[in-house]
Amino acid sequence: MKKYYIVAIDGTAGSGKSTIAKGAAKELNWLYLDTGAMYRAITYKIITEKLDYQNEQLLKEMLEQTEIDFRYHSDEAVYQIYLDGKNVTRVIRNPLVDKLVSHVSLIPIVREKMVKEQRKIAQGKNTICEGRDIGSVVFPNADLKFFVDCDLDERALRRKKELGESISYEEIRNNLIERDYIDSNREISPLKREKDAIYLDTTNLKINEEIAIVVLLIKMRLLTQNSFI
Ligand code: C5P
Repeated sequence: MKKYYIVAIDGTAGSGKSTIAKGAAKELNWLYLDTGAMYRAITYKIITEKLDYQNEQLLKEMLEQTEIDFRYHSDEAVYQIYLDGKNVTRVIRNPLVDKLVSHVSLIPIVREKMVKEQRKIAQGKNTICEGRDIGSVVFPNADLKFFVDCDLDERALRRKKELGESISYEEIRNNLIERDYIDSNREISPLKREKDAIYLDTTNLKINEEIAIVVLLIKMRLLTQNSFI
């Protein structure tokens, strides 16, 4: 049976995980699986439907009726996320979602559904999967694991450039602190650096450098596994 490879990239909020994972997957022609986007999509649905997500029965019904999938857009060579058939790639990045997503991600039935979907999506594909619990829970046997971090002020600056005038630097910075705190201290699947994960600090790296390092390490790893690369 052909072996497929999984690379797990975990790390703090806004540390550059998505940029690295997206760029490396593009270069290797692998699937890029952004699990944060999935938690964001559920949160976006809760906001738009004004759902009382503390009500477990209502939340359970909503999750059962929710479809999340990733579709490849060949013109931009990127995967985009669809929620119930609608492209939500951009809207899930808004500050309202930023504020609520870590609270929604704490809920066990949300995590159960997401983890199940993530394993299904990656099945039979070479995948770079990025999130908080990938190397620890979703794919503990990943072929290679990274833990990405970056100085907090630099992360806030980068996010500010991305979001523009709609939100202040202070608010962004506080949101990053709050999300990291909740994500790292929750009972189920907390964000933590696995012993076998390579630590990558992106504070002083340019995007092309980060991607080049990760691609090189993946290729080296696969070469030592007699891979096809
Ligand atoms: O990666 P991103 O910052 O877009 O993730 C948004 C939020 O989704 C995180 O702050 C975290 O609360 C949640 N998340 C998670 N587990 C993952 C990926 C994301 O709990 N694997």
